[in-house]
Amino acid sequence: MYDDNNIFAKILRNEIPCKKFYEDEFSLFIYDIAPQAKIHILGIPKIKCIDLTDFVTKADDNLISSFFKSLNLVIEKLNIKADGYRVISNSGNDGGQEVPHFHIHILAGEKIGSLR
Ligand code: AMP
Repeated sequence: MYDDNNIFAKILRNEIPCKKFYEDEFSLFIYDIAPQAKIHILGIPKIKCIDLTDFVTKADDNLISSFFKSLNLVIEKLNIKADGYRVISNSGNDGGQEVPHFHIHILAGEKIGSLR
């Protein structure tokens, strides 16, 4: 069940501050508080969903499409398309997810190391 008190839910409700990179009606993109690369941005859709499969199950087509188009826009704004980047989303215990609100990580600005 979705936890209304997770940290990204609080950020989306403006209850705690964040460093915004981009925001629109459907999504918020913020700087990760503990960056794992020179560029580390989190993309958070504005819907109560726990992880990727929950997002695809609950969100309507317009929101799903908008979220990924916003991701594309953020990639353009970051100017990382030419050098490359990594987009990941952790889910559940085995995936190492810490915050139970679906989000994607954009890692870039340097060579991103092996996943293992
Ligand atoms: P995950 O392990 O995929 O759930 O990733 C959660 C991410 O959220 C981690 O990279 C944290 O550094 C990041 N994080 C936690 N709290 C905050 C916060 N208040 N503002 C920005 N990023 C945060």
